Parts: sequence; structure tokens; C-alpha cells
Amino acid sequence: MSLTSKSLIKDLLKKYKARPLKRLGQNFLIDKSVLQKIIESANLHSKDIVLEIGPGVGILTQEITKRVKKVITIEKDQKMVEILKETLKDFKNIEIIQEDVLKSNIQNLISNIQYKIVANLPYYIVSPVIRKFLELPEARPLEMVLMVQKEVAQRICARPPKMSILAVSVQFYAKPEIISFVSKKSFWPQPKVDSGIVKITPKTTLQRTGLCKLFFKIVKAGFSHPRKQIVNNLSKMLKLNKEKIRKWLLKNGIEPIQRAETLTVKDWLKLTRNWYKI
Ligand code: SAM
Repeated sequence: MSLTSKSLIKDLLKKYKARPLKRLGQNFLIDKSVLQKIIESANLHSKDIVLEIGPGVGILTQEITKRVKKVITIEKDQKMVEILKETLKDFKNIEIIQEDVLKSNIQNLISNIQYKIVANLPYYIVSPVIRKFLELPEARPLEMVLMVQKEVAQRICARPPKMSILAVSVQFYAKPEIISFVSKKSFWPQPKVDSGIVKITPKTTLQRTGLCKLFFKIVKAGFSHPRKQIVNNLSKMLKLNKEKIRKWLLKNGIEPIQRAETLTVKDWLKLTRNWYKI
């Protein structure tokens, strides 16, 4: 029987004296067509190594494990890990790690191998997880296929004038795209909001660490008050004379009265590269 069956999930939880924990974002996927969409988007091959974050009872894990060379799963909840040992017992190509993904040392886990990430993420770790994996200097994934809240998917893929720090951060390191929106009815227990599948493909060229630090310092300053004019935010947060900031913006084709939400990643990069000419 497929693990997308609500009654089977309920039986498994009952057997292991577990219940869906809200604080860990445990909303299990119960829709086969959505499961299929995630698998198709990840474009899995028999040589792939996949890291799955938050496997739950193993709904996605089973389908991924059938198709690839190896799956490494990181699950925080010990009860889920006990259940996974049962639902994945027929597979030899799986490693189950009980850990908080935000605390785990990914470089140790995935050293010198190319891998993909597939995950139905609890909402509270979406931004830190994306940041953690995109910022890894030598262990970035080939791609990430993530189920996130619909609004977060839209924010990640936004364009000016709807940019945010999240959009700039992701688009600085990668190319994100929305694959599909998913109804909240596709999960049990049903969450309050709909979801979306996003595919995030990291860029192959890496910027220098020094440039990245300066880039994010400027971006954070620019977004300090997103509704205010960029010249005021930058001058205040970077502690520089307003006239100097005005000239620097104009030289880079940006109107001082613009809001941070209207700038592209290219605009922020131009500003960063020309910082020393200020
Ligand atoms: N993959 C399953 C599915 O699609 O039905 C479960 C997804 S559920 C939305 C999120 C899973 O992430 C839960 O199993 C939860 O226990 C796990 N989780 C929550 N926080 C975590 C963390 N910090 N590190 C690792 N796993 C976590």
C-alpha cells in the first residue's frame, strides 16, 4: 500500500505511539500526483545521490530510493526515525540520520560528492535551510527541489518591484523557479495555507567570499526599511554621507528615491563592485 494513504500513516503513527507534531511542521503528503510531480522535477537518475531533509514516515523517501544510487535522510524526530526503519527496511541504499539539519555538519556528511536535495520542508526552517546549503563553499547541491509554503515560493522567485532579502539572497546564488502550486488538501493534517514546489539550481560560478560579505552588507542596509527610499537606508546603515551615496547610486543607474524592492540582483552587484569608487 502506498504511504500516501492517510489511514496507513495514521496506523503507523499509532503503532509507534506518535502523533503529528505541529512544532516540527509535520504535515504529511497524501497526494500521489503531487508526489509524482516532485519526483519528475528532480529528474532522478540511477547514479544520483540525494539528500532528503525531513523524510517523516518516508513517503517521498521510498519513491526516491527506488530510483537513485543512494539516499541520505536527515530527520529530527526520533519517532519518525523509528517508523522510517520499518518503511524503508527493504532498501539497502539508504542512510538515516537522526539530527537537526540546521545543526548538522554537511561538509562531513557530503564530502566531495555531487548530490541533489529533495524535501518537503517545515515552514520554520525554509529560509535557514536554503541559506545553509547555498552558502556551503564546497558542498553545494547540484539542485534543490523543495516543497514550501506558496507565499514563500512566490517570494523566492519574485522580480522587481517585489524583491525581498530572501529573493535577493537566493537569486544571488542560484536560479529559482516555481514548478507548481499545491493545495493544502494534499497534506494530512491539513495546514492553513497552500504550498508550492520550487526548484533552485545553484549557479556554477562562485563569487569571492569578500565580495559576498560586502554584497550582503549593502543589501541588508538597503532593505533595513523596505518602504523607505534607498538613499536614506544606505546612508543611515552604512554610516556615509547622503550626497556620496546619492552619487554612487546614480553612477550605477539607480535613482536615489527607488525602494530596495525595485532593484535586481545585478543592480546590487554593480553597487558592490563599485563600492570602492564611492
Ligand atoms: N517528507 C514527509 C512528507 O513529505 O510527507 C514529511 C514532511 S513534514 C512537512 C516535515 C518533516 O521535517 C517532519 O518529518 C519533521 O519531523 C522534520 N523536521 C522538522 N524540523 C526538522 C529539522 N530541523 N531537521 C530535520 N528534520 C526536521
